[in-house]
Amino acid sequence: MSVHQLVYYSRNTITKASVSPWKALKDIILKSQANNRRDDITGYLIFDKVCFLQVLEGDRDKVRTAYRRIEGDVRHCDLVILGARDVAHRSFADWTMAGALRTPEQDSIFIEHGIGSTIIPARLKADRVVSLAVSLARFHAFSREGGIAADDRSAAG
Ligand code: FAD
Repeated sequence: MSVHQLVYYSRNTITKASVSPWKALKDIILKSQANNRRDDITGYLIFDKVCFLQVLEGDRDKVRTAYRRIEGDVRHCDLVILGARDVAHRSFADWTMAGALRTPEQDSIFIEHGIGSTIIPARLKADRVVSLAVSLARFHAFSREGGIAADDRSAAG
């Protein structure tokens, strides 16, 4: 059975000095993990001061419903869907949602995937974002720097 995979870009509007980027990402990831576990959605969220890049995968209707909910969230704006297609398998099968806050340690990974220090939305491609997310996920399997632990979907039963 195929899986629907949606990749989007958005502009980060979390500007309050009182909220650290780390805490903001953690709040989003924790809520996402709870909802996505319920909806059997998996994926990855990349985050910096300027933007979010997210991969959502699962049943087409459930992914679309989650996206509509996410689209209305005031913590970001100007969402652009980079790709929405059916794929043979999930790229983040074990995780209801994991995330990475971009730090200088990861710059080389972004550059390997053709994304420089400034993310230019018009140049982003869905495939590149997915492969970047897979590489960041592998990086965080070895280093806790900048990453938020995945919620192990297989362990949730
Ligand atoms: P509640 O948690 O009860 O929230 C009710 C309302 O309050 C919603 O409108 C919500 O947007 C808003 N809200 C909650 N917390 C805050 C806050 N700290 N600041 C401002 N408004 C707030 N949700 C998922 O289910 N799956 C995902 O994969 C996912 N990814 C996300 C990625 C990004 C970049 C962002 C910004 C949000 C993401 N969310 C995700 C959260 C999503 O936008 C909704 O907030 C969430 O799904 C609502 O959950 P709920 O229906 O249980 O409502």
